[in-house]
Amino acid sequence: MTVLYQRVAFIGLGLIASSMAHALRRGGLASECVGTARSAETRDIARDIAIVDRVYDTAADAVKGADLVVLCVPVGAMEDVAREIAPHLQPGATVTDVGSVKQAVIDAVAPHMPEGVHFIPGHPLAGTEHSGPRSGFAELFDNRWCILTPSEGCDADALARLEQLWRGMGANVDLMDAPHHDLVLAVTSHTPHLIAYTMVGVADDLRRVTDSEVIKYSAAGFRDFTRIAASDPTMWRDVFLTNKEATLEILGRFTEELFALQRAIRQGDGALLHDYFTRTRAIRRSIIDAGQDTDAPDFGRVRQ
Ligand code: NAP
Repeated sequence: MTVLYQRVAFIGLGLIASSMAHALRRGGLASECVGTARSAETRDIARDIAIVDRVYDTAADAVKGADLVVLCVPVGAMEDVAREIAPHLQPGATVTDVGSVKQAVIDAVAPHMPEGVHFIPGHPLAGTEHSGPRSGFAELFDNRWCILTPSEGCDADALARLEQLWRGMGANVDLMDAPHHDLVLAVTSHTPHLIAYTMVGVADDLRRVTDSEVIKYSAAGFRDFTRIAASDPTMWRDVFLTNKEATLEILGRFTEELFALQRAIRQGDGALLHDYFTRTRAIRRSIIDAGQDTDAPDFGRVRQ
């Protein structure tokens, strides 16, 4: 156990912050953790279940004396938070974030960071469809990737320490530039979420006609879309508003492929469909081989 930071301050106390706090505790990586959240309700829950050692009523108070500040709010809220904490940051402190989009966060936060404070944006590629302070757990980041998108002149020691922190929380770390991160995530996360939202929206319209058959027979595939489509609406609204270009680019390609498959179905082109599905099956195999999902049937769900 190596203590990497004396005081870690979380701004926002939802799924990601509470998981980080549990993981920091598990790894003995910080002497103390403090935090704050926007609403009194969340702050009270955080105090009740003792996610962190101390909960402050304002972000300005929470960051005082912290050598690591982690912004764990929706992407659209980052700028206001950065503006509020800036005058209270300790010289030499590191500020990082966990936002799902990186260039927009850099544009929102970097201009507010005082001289002598190291801003190193980050994004753990781990999550669930649950939100709030009660939803966190220490294992969330185990064997998942965390992408850091440091600027060119970033302080090497500050970066190395933050990388060590993520590894201590169980994650693997990669460095990337922010635009590339946003494109990669548009393919692997953002567009799939939009497709899931759409599919569930369509089925919801059908449900009125078919009298709940969609729900009853959901195990045939629809159920897995519903898990993704249950993700936090504020977070995902902000993702699409701030990763607009990359998402639109991937959606354009998706639409073209969908039309090609639609034509193959109409023309009875079984060979095209079979080849396509063979290729996609191989992608699933490589995700399992990379340890990013289980090979158990039905994702290892236990039958009730
Ligand atoms: P969450 O569980 O919904 O928690 C969000 C926290 O931010 C709450 O404490 C909330 O306060 C606070 N907040 C919301 N709007 C705010 C505002 N306008 N101003 C100040 N604070 C505000 O969210 P999360 O899943 O931890 O996500 C946090 C960040 O991690 C987001 O940027 C998201 O993109 C990123 N992320 C999420 C996932 C995922 O799968 N969930 C994965 C990787 C990264 P109240 O509770 O008081 O409302």
